[in-house]
Amino acid sequence: MAEAGPSRKRARTDEEPSIPDSSPTLSGASDTIPIPKKHESLWFEDGNVVLVASGTLAFKIYRGVLIRSSEVFRDMFAIPQPEFMETMDGCPLINVHDSALDLGHLLSALFERGYFDVTRCTIEILASILRLATKYSIDDLREEALTELGKCFPSNLASWDSAKTKRVRLIREPAAAVTVVNLAVDLSLEKHILHLALYECCQLPVRELLDGYRRSDGTAEKLDWTIMVLCIQGKETLTTSYYPFATNWMRTRRSECGNSHCLKLAKSFSQSFGVVPVPSARVLQGNALGEEYRAQLRSYCSSCRLLLLEDFLFHRGHAFRNLTEGSAFTFN
Ligand SMILES: [Zn+2]
Repeated sequence: MAEAGPSRKRARTDEEPSIPDSSPTLSGASDTIPIPKKHESLWFEDGNVVLVASGTLAFKIYRGVLIRSSEVFRDMFAIPQPEFMETMDGCPLINVHDSALDLGHLLSALFERGYFDVTRCTIEILASILRLATKYSIDDLREEALTELGKCFPSNLASWDSAKTKRVRLIREPAAAVTVVNLAVDLSLEKHILHLALYECCQLPVRELLDGYRRSDGTAEKLDWTIMVLCIQGKETLTTSYYPFATNWMRTRRSECGNSHCLKLAKSFSQSFGVVPVPSARVLQGNALGEEYRAQLRSYCSSCRLLLLEDFLFHRGHAFRNLTEGSAFTFN
């Protein structure tokens, strides 16, 4: 049987769901190779080639569309095919080492109008398409997926803030940040995407981080162990971080604010906090400093509040730059 495309990394998931013993087989015996199941919608009666993903799911589609869309398929079909080729439903059968779920998403994007809408799709669909569009050199789909991912994980803080709704819509479940990390590693995406996705993974409870992201086919996508270790260490680094501006404020503003109430507050504030710890790993969040600090902040006069807020934003920008450069995560 022919095999398509160069071997590339695929999402690390639990084993594919296996076909039960009662499935039909090529010889009818239970210990021989099972016949792949036909895909429900990507099975065109007049299709002229069958792709089989991981030996389990078959897609009967059109060779000409594959050739037009993908450089890899174009090259593959240009090679003279062997005289005796395995067939299914009267068409040449090509085995590919892609997960059935990934291939289903990619082929749906190629054959079903409107299926791949980056403004509405899930990270699972985007990841499958980006992964396989890269493998099969389908440039337009790859560019679309990459552009959307870049918008959701941008390299500057203002864009990060304004993309929050878009990011939440794409990721949906917090554990899906695992998928973004794996994509960034496997496809060597820009480093800030990897670091920001790791930052999102750091927000997960350790149990969820270990369990990974449950995909729609029931498989769990997990982090590789070395990345998992980095992530847990990063989580520790983030949860023990702090914002240093309280002491700065004391130095710069003690004599400038004429409000005795503020001076009194500042003195007790400095004694009780010194620096302001971040009570969770969510150091970039607008309310990162916790309710105890924010309750204190509300007691200051408006000009002091403004100053403290500006200071917070300054240090928040610094924290973002550190994160995108990977300082919370130590890479070899
Ligand atoms: Zn004041």
